Order: sequence, then structure tokens, then C-alpha cells
Amino acid sequence: MTDQETSLDDWSPEQVEQVAAEVCPPDAITELLASGRGADRDAIGEILLKARDMDGLAPEQVACLIQVDDPDARAEIMDSARHVHETAYGRRIAISTPVCPTNRCINDCLYCPLRRSNTRLRRTSSTVSDLQREVTALLREGHRQLNLVFGDDRSGIHYVRDMMLAASGTRSGIEQVVRVDLNINAMQPAQLHELTTVAALGTYHAFQETYHPETYARLHPDGPKSNFAWRISCHDRTHQAGIHDVGLGVLLGAYDYRYDVVAILNHAQYLTARYGEPPTAITYPRLVSTSVAPASQETRWQVRDDDFVFIAAVTRLAAPRTAIVLCTPVMREVRRDLYGLGVSEVSVGSLSYPGAYTADGDPEVAGALTIARPRAMEMLVYRLCEAGFVPDLCSTQRSPRDRVVQAHGALESTTAERRAANSLLSLREYTMDYASPDTKRVADAVVQRELARLPRRVRSQTLQLMVQAEAGLRRQTL
Ligand code: SF4
Repeated sequence: MTDQETSLDDWSPEQVEQVAAEVCPPDAITELLASGRGADRDAIGEILLKARDMDGLAPEQVACLIQVDDPDARAEIMDSARHVHETAYGRRIAISTPVCPTNRCINDCLYCPLRRSNTRLRRTSSTVSDLQREVTALLREGHRQLNLVFGDDRSGIHYVRDMMLAASGTRSGIEQVVRVDLNINAMQPAQLHELTTVAALGTYHAFQETYHPETYARLHPDGPKSNFAWRISCHDRTHQAGIHDVGLGVLLGAYDYRYDVVAILNHAQYLTARYGEPPTAITYPRLVSTSVAPASQETRWQVRDDDFVFIAAVTRLAAPRTAIVLCTPVMREVRRDLYGLGVSEVSVGSLSYPGAYTADGDPEVAGALTIARPRAMEMLVYRLCEAGFVPDLCSTQRSPRDRVVQAHGALESTTAERRAANSLLSLREYTMDYASPDTKRVADAVVQRELARLPRRVRSQTLQLMVQAEAGLRRQTL
């Protein structure tokens, strides 16, 4: 790394503009889309052959696939995505839980109910003890991996760090949250570096929302987030600060998805080339309509369910080892399709609000995006198992760095076997400690089925650990 890349000095506006131009060169995405339009079946077949090798795709190949309309060609693309996804992730779906310590924000994003102009919202921020109570309630339902969601409330980096430490330091019996992801505004390197002192820090998510500059400007009329270049360069500052687990995101429905999918995967490739590792996660939230956020009701770029599944498929082919995170509600049948060919992590519920998981929760501060509800975790575990997937709760059992990579990432050979075994162990422990008889029944069936798929040696070690867990010895791993 160069001195520039290890420095914690504030970035100048010129530096921000320079990096932004490298991340998303003006007109480059439009040119990629123009040259990728109308690819024939032979060209698509060649791209899919390459994708099946698990090496990902170049942006020009993404531009070909994402513009395919022909139903038969789309079916072929989705078949290949199923193959790549199964190879990389098996049937495991990681689970994370959004926690929102504050609903204060100085930005005015037109699609978001928390935007500054929404004067109908009662604003509040959790204290350390408020958050500890929420985390305790979550631990008692078996949640282990949290995603702290902040807007831009200007409380400062110390508030963010205090909330992360409160989240990761709270205990309920032997249980403790061991991984805390962050979804937060763009910052300078020195501020970001403060977060590296939190041992449980997982992924730093910052969503660009749209890579189309004119649309971005229209949707972000005011506040620090209105600076497109500042936002798009934030993952570079994050790497510079020593945080290498970064997540990208696009808000589906904000602009033409074909443009934004090519752009986000182009961004992923830029980060991989520059920092030697792909982004840990890509998230595709969709616009959720609410009367207090005018842009949320726009329908011009609305993404249909079948297109959403197709987007997940193309993303899986392009980025085989990057987690695809589902964080907005979709119909159950659509979820099954998404889990089968691309999505590898799901959020329990959707956006939350301060106090959502305790009696402190106040509907007046929820902002119309509240999905958090009692027993949401068990319902999700039940539904995943019922659909034949393996809820992956075992990110509790690794060192922080290893944990982050493994929780989000696809694995190779024996590591993959260990990962599969550990996810079954933690699912078994979950059913012993938290599940109702119905959930236990469907989860036990999944455990039996998946155990049979493990190599004999790994299976017998896993069974031994399960016997020990039944006897009270918990949190062991292979
Ligand atoms: S999207 Fe984020 S930054 Fe924008 S108004 Fe909502 S909370 Fe604030």
C-alpha cells in the first residue's frame, strides 16, 4: 500500500473527486450497456460457461446478461446462477438483525421516512442502557449477529462506537452478540479508524442507492449525503482506515436497474482490483412506499418480482463469493427463488427503530418502515427450514475476522465442510434453547438431511458435538 492509502488524513475535495471518477467514470456505464445490448444466445452461452468456473464476470459481460429479455435465455442464466450459488453456499442462509439506535438524521433523502423534512416523526436516540435492554431481548430470542443502522445524526463517532460496544458487550447468560455490522454514513479515514477498536466489528455497509448522478442529485437534495462523489468514494476511505469488510448497495426502484446493476458490479470489480479482495456483501433494498417520503411512491423504475430474482441471479454469477443480502420484504414464493439462486443472507424484518425490540418501542418514532416483531427470528428459522434451507446462525463461533469472512463468504473444500457442520451444530443448539416444538421438528429434519450429505468423518465429529451439546456443553465448533 502507498503512503496515501495508509494515511488517516482527511481527504480533500479534490481527492474525493479524483477517486469518485475512478470508481464510476462518467459515461462508462452507459457505454457498457450500449455495447452489451442484444447479445445472441451463443454469446450468452459463452458467458455462462465462464461464470460456472466461479471466477466471476467482467462488467461488459454483466452488461450483456442484465439486458436479456428472452424468457428462455433468462431461464438459462438462472439455472447457471443456481449452480454457482449451490457450489458456493450450499443451502445455507445467514441471518442478521437490524437494530436502529437513533432515528435522527440531517439528510433529506426523498425516499426515506427518516429524512429531515419529515416533521411528523418524533426523534429519539437510544442511550447505552436502552440499547443494552434491546440487545438482551434479542439474545433471549437467539439473535447473534446485529446490523446497527444509523442515518447521519451528527452525534459523532464516539456515539457510534459506544453503541457498537454496548451491542457486542451485553450478555444474557452465556450468550453474547459476537458480530456487529454497521450501516452508516460516509466518513473521513480517522473517524472510521476509531471503529477498528471494536473487536466485534463486521461489515461496513454504505449504499450508493443509485450510481446515476442526475437521479442521485434529484433524490438527495440536501445534507452531506447529497455529495455524490463523497458517497461513492467512501469504501476507499474505509479500506484506508484499516476496515476491509465493506458492503455495497443499490436501492432498486430509484433508477433503471440495468444501469445500477452494471454500476455496482463495476464498483465491486474496482475494489477487488485495488484492494485485493471483493466487497463482502451486496444489498439490494427495494423502495417501500410511504406517504411521508415522496420518492418512495414513484413507479417509473419499480422493479417487478421476476426482475428482482433475475438481478440476484446475474449478481451471483458476477460475484460468486460475495454475500447477497435481502433486507426488504418480499412474498414467500419470491424469497424461495431468491434463496435458491443468489441471496445468501437475510435480515430479520426490515428497518427498525429505537426501542423496537423492547417495550420502549414507540410507534410514533417508527417512521412507517417497522417490521420488527416478537418471535421474528423463530418465524424466519421455521420458514427457512420448511423451504429446505439451512438457517446459518454459527457466526457466533469464530474469531472476528474469520467470522466476518466466513459468515458472508463462500468457502472452499474442507473449510466448506466445517462451515456446513458448524451451521448444523448451531441450528441444533438453537432448537434446544429457543424453538417451539413445530420449529424443532422442521429444523431437526433439515439437520438430519444435511448431516447425511457430510463426509463420514465430519459427520461423526458433528454428531459427537451434538451429543455434548445435548449434555449442556455449548458453542463448540469443528
Ligand atoms: S436514507 Fe439514511 S441518510 Fe437518508 S434520510 Fe434516511 S436515514 Fe437519513
